[in-house]
Amino acid sequence: MSKELSNEDREIILNSIRDIPDFPKKGIIFKDITTLLNNPKAFKTLMNHLEDRYKEYNLDYIAGIDARGFIFGSILADRLGIGFVPVRKKGKLPYTTVAQKYSLEYGFDEVEIHIDAFRGEKGARVLLIDDLIATGGTAKAGVELINQVEANCVECCFIAELTFLNGKDGIDSPVYSVLKF
Ligand code: AMP
Repeated sequence: MSKELSNEDREIILNSIRDIPDFPKKGIIFKDITTLLNNPKAFKTLMNHLEDRYKEYNLDYIAGIDARGFIFGSILADRLGIGFVPVRKKGKLPYTTVAQKYSLEYGFDEVEIHIDAFRGEKGARVLLIDDLIATGGTAKAGVELINQVEANCVECCFIAELTFLNGKDGIDSPVYSVLKF
């Protein structure tokens, strides 16, 4: 079974994330995870927890959302001995892609995945990961891309969730957030 995060470990991770008010525009409190990444104790505590949780999930791939989802997702994929798939912002992937538009907490965007991202493995068990869920638009688009290429998004994982935006309500897959704000 997946292991729970201890209160002590939760505090270590929580205290490593800083709030930047009014970035990238007025009224947004940006959760800055660069202070988690440059804190070896907090970073390892987080990655140990994610490895503990997901090692029993029998995953085939981790899909990480551009760009902060790449950091956590690729480390987790390597720890679990599985492949990593980037969900990229439009225009960055070189091969044939499928694309999905979505709205952000602060704007609009479009994400893409390679058509053969999961090597044509129908029903491949995929964990989608990003640093934060706000309105859920980005993650919803990511889940839709995974489904479009006939893989199976078994869970969406976030380091932080802004619960007051109810982002997880629009997502068909289960959602796990390490920290809730
Ligand atoms: P959303 O689609 O609204 O759930 O927005 C999630 C995406 O935007 C993630 O890739 C986050 O990294 C980024 N994001 C949105 N709001 C914030 C915030 N308040 N702090 C940090 N990142 C954010």
